[in-house]
Amino acid sequence: MRKKIIAGNWKMNFTPARAAEFANSLVNTIDDAADNVEVVLCVPYVAIDHVQYELDGTDIKVGAQNMHAEDKGEFTGEISGEMLAAMCVPYVIIGHSERRKYYNESDTDVNKKAHKALEMYITPIVCVGETLEQRKNGEVDNVLTQQTHLALVNFKTEDIPKIVIAYEPIWAIGTGETATPEQAQAACKKIRSVIKHEFGEDAAEAIRILYGGSVNPSNANELFAQPDIDGGLVGGASQKLSFAEVVKAGQANA
Ligand code: PEP
Repeated sequence: MRKKIIAGNWKMNFTPARAAEFANSLVNTIDDAADNVEVVLCVPYVAIDHVQYELDGTDIKVGAQNMHAEDKGEFTGEISGEMLAAMCVPYVIIGHSERRKYYNESDTDVNKKAHKALEMYITPIVCVGETLEQRKNGEVDNVLTQQTHLALVNFKTEDIPKIVIAYEPIWAIGTGETATPEQAQAACKKIRSVIKHEFGEDAAEAIRILYGGSVNPSNANELFAQPDIDGGLVGGASQKLSFAEVVKAGQANA
C-alpha cells in the first residue's frame, strides 16, 4: 500500500517571518489530518529553518524546491544537497517545469540532481509533464516515456521506491485549469508502466506518483481517488489555509 503524499510548493513566496506565521496557522488546521498521509511543505531556502521551528513536534515535513547536483564549488547562488541534508531536509523538488523553462534544466540535469539527492538520503520529487502543444499533438505518452526514462537513468531497481514522480502537465500549473481525473490517471498509469518496463513490477507498484496542476479543495478528492495517483504536488492552493482541505482529501483516499 503506497502512503499518499500531499506536498505544497510555496515557490518564491513568503519572507521567513511570514512563512513561519503561515506555517503556524496551518499546523493548527492540518496536524490531525496528517497521520495517514505524508504532508510536506517545500518552502524557500531562507525559510526552511523558520518553518522547521514552527512545525517541530508535528508530522509535517519541510522540503526544498531545488538543489544543485554538485557537493560544493564555484556555483554562485546555488544550494547543494549536502547543505539541505545538513538542515535535515527530507524532500526536494527536482526538475519543476518552471526550472526547466526559466533555468534551462535538462533531463540530464534532472537525473544528476535526483542521484545526488538520493546519495544525500533526500527523497527527490521529480517533475515530468507535457506542454499544451504536445498534448494537442497527441505526444503525451511519448513525452512522459522519454522524461521518465531520462530522469531514472542509472538508478538501481532498489532505488526506485525511494523516488517520487510528480506528473505535472505544464498547461495546468498555476493556470486554474486542472487535468481531468481521467487525464491525470491515464498519465500516471503511463508513467508507472514505463517504470514497470524498466525496473519491474515491484518497483512500479512501490513508487509514488503524484499529480500536480491547479489542485485545490474542490478537485483534490476526485484526483486522489484515482488508482495510480498517490497524492499531489500543490502550488497556489498550498499557500492558503484551505490547503488543509487538500490534505483531508488525501487522507480520505489513503
Ligand atoms: C506546482 O507549482 O507544482 C503547481 C502544481 O502549482 P499549482 O498548484 O499552482 O498549479
